[in-house]
Amino acid sequence: MADVRAQVAEAARRAGRDPGDVEILVAVKYMDAEELPLLAERGYTLLGENRAQELVRKAERHPGVFRWHFIGQLQSRKVKVIAPHVDLIHSVASESALAQLAKHAPPGLEILVEVNVSGEPGKAGVDPSELDAYLEASPVPVVGLMTMPPATADPEASRPYFAALRELARQRGLRHLSMGTSQDFAVAVAEGATIVRVGSAIMQGIRAAARS
Ligand SMILES: *Cc1c(COP(=O)(O)O)cnc(C)c1O
Repeated sequence: MADVRAQVAEAARRAGRDPGDVEILVAVKYMDAEELPLLAERGYTLLGENRAQELVRKAERHPGVFRWHFIGQLQSRKVKVIAPHVDLIHSVASESALAQLAKHAPPGLEILVEVNVSGEPGKAGVDPSELDAYLEASPVPVVGLMTMPPATADPEASRPYFAALRELARQRGLRHLSMGTSQDFAVAVAEGATIVRVGSAIMQGIRAAARS
């Protein structure tokens, strides 16, 4: 199977998009800090973490090598912890996250709002019907939307959710769409993703290459 970067570029070209308009964020929650230089060697320099402490640990282990985005749920007082390391938080969706941002966001920090477009109960994300009020309440600039569709073995199953997110962003003039993981990133690119968040597919490729 072709590597993730080649697949992203191919999906972009097929959709009539410039491959340079799609950033690949490597979700590194399953990787050790010691493995991260393998990503840099392959040109992957934008990384995402779900846990604040892990983000800080991994970022401090490799100063100046990577750019970091936070992609997890913001627990209390974590904005302060991650703020020195990140320029974008992808996954803002709660009232408490907005309150933390109001208190601790440094100048220049931007966010994406996570939307629960599939409507799965218990899933993180703002309901589409509450999105405008949520955007209005944000104390920091919202530059796009993020979503996580239901787990599936069929990438095409995610397409309606990606299309819905694109439409929500388009109507509000928001430029970033963070969508697509190992299960469906090519479909996400076809539907307009500006950032794909890929973890296991890249990690497997790198570990296989390291063994051979
Ligand atoms: C882990 C994770 C990803 C990557 O998922 P893979 O299936 O490993 O590609 C993307 N986004 C978020 C929010 C994640 O937690």
